Amino acid sequence: MAYLTLKDINKIYPNGYHAVHNFNLEIGKGEFIVFVGPSGCGKSTTLRMIAGLEDISNGDFLINGKRANDWGPREREVAMVFQSYALYPQMTVFDNIAFGLTLQGVDEEVIEEKVKNTARILGLTDYLDRLPRALSGGQRQRVAIGRAIIRKVGVFLMDEPLSNLDAKQRVTMRSEIAQIHRETGATTIYVTHDQTEAMTLADRIVVMKDGYVQQIGTPYELYHDPVNVFVAGFIGEPPMNFIRAVVKGGKVPFGSNLLDISPWLGNQGKKYEGKEIVFGFRPEAIELGERNNAYRVRAQVELPEMLGDNTNVYITAGADKAILKVDPHDTPEIDSAITFSIPYDDVYLFNGETEMVIEKTAQKSLQKSK
Ligand code: ADP
Repeated sequence: MAYLTLKDINKIYPNGYHAVHNFNLEIGKGEFIVFVGPSGCGKSTTLRMIAGLEDISNGDFLINGKRANDWGPREREVAMVFQSYALYPQMTVFDNIAFGLTLQGVDEEVIEEKVKNTARILGLTDYLDRLPRALSGGQRQRVAIGRAIIRKVGVFLMDEPLSNLDAKQRVTMRSEIAQIHRETGATTIYVTHDQTEAMTLADRIVVMKDGYVQQIGTPYELYHDPVNVFVAGFIGEPPMNFIRAVVKGGKVPFGSNLLDISPWLGNQGKKYEGKEIVFGFRPEAIELGERNNAYRVRAQVELPEMLGDNTNVYITAGADKAILKVDPHDTPEIDSAITFSIPYDDVYLFNGETEMVIEKTAQKSLQKSK
């Protein structure tokens, strides 16, 4: 098991494209780290620099405290699982998993024991004699993971390993990957664009955008204390609602509702008067009806979307739109007028220009999470 240090890591591709900017991170032994962000934000590039498949343009990369920038992939003792899992079609599951060890000339008995142990962890014991074509997509991906984890490596790298699976298989494999991590305890870095995968798997998540790290934290921290509009909108499903408006008399218009944010801004009130602000609240934070210690908002129901365990209600208030997550028993009628309440404690305010969270809100939510 290894610990890793990334200090001011940059990647500038030969064509001049600056794909990763000053990436800083310490990864502890056995930690499960997820890089998440939209396509093209630099996740794979960073992972490939860690794997030794891509040069590091600038910065220091350390494995167990030793500078490893110039080490080859083998010296780094990493194993990588890619999006497309290329198995050898003419080889059985056993031989596919054993392949790396066979190449290294490891004793047959040792190989047999290791393959069996790996197959047990992955639930492949009954499939060892099969060829890949006689397996489901999820089983094939497990074989690919088996091939990677059978070798003793310091770090396990996974680049969107579930993206070729259907929705149901993804959910199953997700919990299996968590289980494999618990059993092997290997330091793991996992790349995905899917925030649900990130939230369910990670000890810590690194949120990236346009080659820059936006925030690093536990799933809990990112959900409760996002540093900016991007992270707030990226983590959580359905995403946080944002009302962008100019502050007037300490109030934010949300349709025809005037929400008094002056208590939150306190002595920063003057600074934001006449400036654009982003008022954020999560769909699941609201309550239907009028509550105390909450903003009360009158709105129009555009569409209630019944999902079984909850209903997503799409509402409009003037030109503003939002999604409310409600109990299915309370689903309002389409086109009806409703009032809902946003508890003061569940509101986020962001600077409309910089998109950074406004401190008062951050302090408030930090206190809440203690
Ligand atoms: P992600 O994994 O987050 O989808 P990547 O790390 O693959 O993003 O890519 C980050 C950015 O770097 C993208 O804009 C991509 O087009 C660019 N890029 C990737 N590989 C190369 C390359 N070999 N040369 C130039 N630009 C590249």
